[in-house]
Amino acid sequence: MFRLSAVRLSHFLPSVFLLLSGLAAAYVRDLSVFFTSLFNVLPTLVLLLGGAYCAVYRRQRELFLMVTVYIAYYLLDMQTDFYRDNGRVREDAAVVFHLVCLLLPMLFGLFGAWQERTHLFQDMVARFAVLLAVGSVALGLEQSFPHALLGWLAEIRWPSLHGQWMSLIQLAYPMFAAAFILVVVQYLRQPRPLHAAQIIGLIGLFWMLPQTFILPFTLNIMCSQVMLMIAAAVSHEAYQMAFRDELTGLPGRRALNERMQRLGRGYVLAMTDVDHFKKFNDTHGHDVGDQVLRLVASKLSKVTGGGRAYRYGGEEFALVFAGKTLEECMPHLEAVREMIANYNIQLRNQESRPQDDSQGRQRRGVVAATSVSVTISIGAAERLVEHRSPDEVLKSADEALYSAKGAGRNCVMAHGHQARRGAVRTA
Ligand code: GH3
Ligand code: MG
Ligand code: MG
Repeated sequence: MFRLSAVRLSHFLPSVFLLLSGLAAAYVRDLSVFFTSLFNVLPTLVLLLGGAYCAVYRRQRELFLMVTVYIAYYLLDMQTDFYRDNGRVREDAAVVFHLVCLLLPMLFGLFGAWQERTHLFQDMVARFAVLLAVGSVALGLEQSFPHALLGWLAEIRWPSLHGQWMSLIQLAYPMFAAAFILVVVQYLRQPRPLHAAQIIGLIGLFWMLPQTFILPFTLNIMCSQVMLMIAAAVSHEAYQMAFRDELTGLPGRRALNERMQRLGRGYVLAMTDVDHFKKFNDTHGHDVGDQVLRLVASKLSKVTGGGRAYRYGGEEFALVFAGKTLEECMPHLEAVREMIANYNIQLRNQESRPQDDSQGRQRRGVVAATSVSVTISIGAAERLVEHRSPDEVLKSADEALYSAKGAGRNCVMAHGHQARRGAVRTA
């Protein structure tokens, strides 16, 4: 259920950076006019830019998260402006503030966990309907029964659980806790930058609310930062989509092309290809083939000697050794080839795990828990003076790979050299 192996610190870093910079900015006293004017327009600016960004990428969920945060900001900003100008709070300050404390975590958790599944337009209408329904009920109650609503919101329902430190209404705490559990579970099930940003964003909002009337501009700063976290997560995911291969998690072809433009004078490129993979797919099914590709990718990513693995396409991977000579790389290539050849891959029993990430992939053949193994062939080439571009080195590596296949597979071949190791034929 939880994919702990896919949890990455990098998913959290942009949001944590935004959170910390928001905290730091909120504690700065005596801001210059420049910053006070900036903070007055920042949330609106971030919503417009971030909203446009979400619209371009068709990310409704993120758009509605931002709108939720913005509405909370807008409602509270009217109150803090009044407080700043008049030295006292507006009459409706308590009821508005308490409503925001209750509804903000509720809607944030709801929109955060509500995955985009249906048709884009229907999805948007459904989200909008929820926002409108919650908003109009809250507004209606606030206009018609302000005192009763205030009493209901501020009531201490569980005196034994009430702590002195609680500066929000008691109901807000279980609501934040529920939203927090929801977004944490969601992240653990599907670790990705957006889900991480939701966790940190919720922490930011939880910190912000009690400070709203205490620290000037906390509201503006933290709401902007939370919206920025969401926008940053959208761009982080867009970057990953472009540069990371979804199946294996390795950087993809585009990332390899970028890397190849930045290689210095000396480097080694190696092309690897899984042996008889077509047959493997035919025997075990495409799903098992995918599992094996993930495993091969994970072994290749651990290649020693400073090599970095990329998925070139299909069952082909490229290894880049920057600043290395062929002689230095060969033992490492040999080691990774051997590690893969000797590895017994335990296949999951697919009958007992039918539900997860099967989207878009066909399931052919039901496999009982057994072990299989695959081999790879590697062709390596060093950058020589006659190579005018990294593409030519890659071409040489590809030629060496072709020779490795010709030499019987499961071996490493260097461009212009003999096979390092006698070919091992596999059945
Ligand atoms: P050789 O030893 O000569 O490389 O034989 P091969 O069968 O591996 O050669 P070929 O390159 O013709 O076949 C590649 C096969 O890899 C074809 C396709 O079925 C399989 N393949 C490519 N991409 C994927 C993928 O993403 N998932 C799975 N399961 N199979 C893939
Ligand atoms: Mg191939
Ligand atoms: Mg192959």
